[in-house]
Amino acid sequence: MHHLIEQLQACQDPDVGLLTELLAARGDDCELLRAAAHECMRQYVGEAVYFRGLVEVTNICSQNCYYCGIRKDATVVRYRLSEDEILLAARECMRLGFGSMVLQSGEISSDAYVDFICRVVARIKSETRSDVLTDGLGITLSIGVLSRAQYQRLFDAGAHRYLLRIETSNEKLFRTLHPEEQSLAGRYEAIHDLQSVGFQTGTGVMIGVPGQSMHMMAADILTFRRLDIDMVGMGPYLPSQNTPMAGVPILSADERYQLGLNMIALTRLVCQDINIASTTALEGLHPSGRLEGLRYGANVAMPNLSPVEYRPNYRLYDDKPTTQSAQDAVAAIEQIGRKVALNTLGDPRHYYARRQRHT
Ligand code: SAH
Repeated sequence: MHHLIEQLQACQDPDVGLLTELLAARGDDCELLRAAAHECMRQYVGEAVYFRGLVEVTNICSQNCYYCGIRKDATVVRYRLSEDEILLAARECMRLGFGSMVLQSGEISSDAYVDFICRVVARIKSETRSDVLTDGLGITLSIGVLSRAQYQRLFDAGAHRYLLRIETSNEKLFRTLHPEEQSLAGRYEAIHDLQSVGFQTGTGVMIGVPGQSMHMMAADILTFRRLDIDMVGMGPYLPSQNTPMAGVPILSADERYQLGLNMIALTRLVCQDINIASTTALEGLHPSGRLEGLRYGANVAMPNLSPVEYRPNYRLYDDKPTTQSAQDAVAAIEQIGRKVALNTLGDPRHYYARRQRHT
């Protein structure tokens, strides 16, 4: 394993075979991978953990992704937060010292919804200005595939980061996870649009979905690099009873958990100066999953700031953790020896390097 890690560190252009072998690390070998990723993180982005307060704006969705518990056809009580409810969460985010927030929702591509988000973004920017954040909170959006013109409007309103997962870089696998009207090419195009509009752009995949091989996951990591992505958020697949994929056989929880951690470590080693989030889905498989993600090279945590009464309805998968308070999240991170960087935006370094390369 040691030898393989050195090989990865030495090469400019790692191949998919090498990454596939490294992904298979189990037992003591995982610690070697973890330590290498941690060192790489320390070197390229430092040890600070940046917080984004996550607000789940609505679970209304026009799409029917086969894995997702809030898909259009799922039976779930639908809600949409009001402007004031979101602003309340933004002020809480500020009070806690988290420099940024993420607004996530189901996919609604109407101009009316985009207008609503634009209004909310503009209000957050103007109402959360302070001595430490003169421009207000940083805002990441995660609201799906939209047109370039809509992305432009959201950017102009003041959002500056966007997360859009490709879910998998494998065309065939993508097809088994989504209905006809969605395509991997469409996601790539959206990512390109986001980058050209000027967003700090993130993507990610699900790990351990039925039909996904380690070779495909290794290819996902190379795809993050090829796309010149600034941020990655990814996590293990967790089944949802509310979906057509419920009951399809999957890898064991332990397997998906370790693969999730190894994917973070290898993404850090390959993409180096990007921001990587340690996601809720890891916690779905292990009580300290999100902390482990940070130990494996992630540097972003996204505590949930959605109003508590709505959280059970934003149920992407079964057993989604909904309870940890933001204060507890900070304390837990400090306990593993990492500092939480408060009152700062925490922009990914890769974004500045990318911009410099393109000017
Ligand atoms: N609708 C938005 C964001 C909401 S879903 C969008 O499409 O971008 C956010 C992410 O949750 C998805 O990209 C998917 O990767 C993840 N997700 C959905 N269902 C999941 C499941 N069953 N297990 C693990 N992750 C899931």
